[in-house]
Amino acid sequence: MELLKQLQQQLHTLEDHQLIRKRRTVDTPCGPRLNVGGRELLAFCTNDYLGLANHRKIKLALQEGAAIYGVGSGAAPLISGHSRAHAMLEERLAQFVGAHLEQPRALSFCTGYMANLAVITGLTAGDKDAEIFSEQLNHASLIDGVRLSRVKAYVYPHADLQALEELLKASKAATKVVVTDSVFSMDGNLAPLPQLLALCEQYNAWLVVDDAHGFGTLGENGHGALEHFNLRSPYLVYMGTLGKAAGVSGAFVAAHETVIETLIHKARPYIFTTAKPPALAHALLTSLDLLEGEEGRTRRAHLKVLVAQLDDGLRLERWQRLPSQTAIQPILIGDNGVTMRAGAALYEQGFWVGAIRPPTVAAGTSRLRVTLSAAHSGMEVAKLITAINALERDFK
Ligand SMILES: *Cc1c(COP(=O)(O)O)cnc(C)c1O
Repeated sequence: MELLKQLQQQLHTLEDHQLIRKRRTVDTPCGPRLNVGGRELLAFCTNDYLGLANHRKIKLALQEGAAIYGVGSGAAPLISGHSRAHAMLEERLAQFVGAHLEQPRALSFCTGYMANLAVITGLTAGDKDAEIFSEQLNHASLIDGVRLSRVKAYVYPHADLQALEELLKASKAATKVVVTDSVFSMDGNLAPLPQLLALCEQYNAWLVVDDAHGFGTLGENGHGALEHFNLRSPYLVYMGTLGKAAGVSGAFVAAHETVIETLIHKARPYIFTTAKPPALAHALLTSLDLLEGEEGRTRRAHLKVLVAQLDDGLRLERWQRLPSQTAIQPILIGDNGVTMRAGAALYEQGFWVGAIRPPTVAAGTSRLRVTLSAAHSGMEVAKLITAINALERDFK
């Protein structure tokens, strides 16, 4: 069949460029030690930054949630899918990040991907002349949100405040939306949020902050990037995900209540999908308590120690550490093939580290992406450091 042949050809081309992707089937719960095909691996590749994905209390809460609310929500939120559990979660989330917003309200989503589509399309839905200013290294879901919005969009170079200001100054749009990751997911560095917010306030633009990697990990109380930078503004539209540090699944948008009301009316990725299982919302209440409490504080402190340990321990000459103070610790190699072989060599030795290639990162910047978790011990991180140092020294 001709159509299948076309697809096969395309897959062969990917193979030629070392861009074929393979999934590995994991037989154990998410954690620092994963079992794959009967082998135990030390995992430095998950986004479970605080080690909550298999937490006893959250698992019990999920069971309890299923007992109270059943399994499925049965409908979209605007029909009958918005349960008491969702309402309580949204109230709790608004309180969680509310110190940084004005008249805060939160809206819960099935995934961060959908939340990002919703925010960007929702904010621009009422103005076909709206303009979007999108950071170069933004996550794919933000890029897709921009595409789906079908309004004029500019991509500004990574962290280039001057370029952004020139674009904002030149814009005649009544609706301006600046969109950025807070922690860049493949680099681990932070966006200059205070300066971005100042520009947005000056030029009357929304600042959409995707805090997928900051929520739960940044700030004294784990409230995320806005707490870390101590920001507060009605211009802020905050997106946090609940499947990374929070250890469960889903996402939310928090902003001024008028923004949230707008999303409820205009954001199709909110309106036209079945609400997530209420048991997940119920489990997330426990997760948020853990994040905000003593346990969260202890886990964030331990994570910080591990980041410093990696920082001290890695001695690289040809490969390049990217400057990151977060749990995301990339090692830039460049070439796809070399990166894949380095990842495979580590895997052989029992370390699972993400090997990241285009299109996830720009061509020529393939890298190992080490992610640390509070569930790791210092001993486990020490083993990884020894393995990477030796690998780089001997790698051809
Ligand atoms: C993971 C991620 C998302 C998507 O969140 P999901 O809940 O996994 O769909 C969005 N933005 C960034 C920066 C992410 O890393």
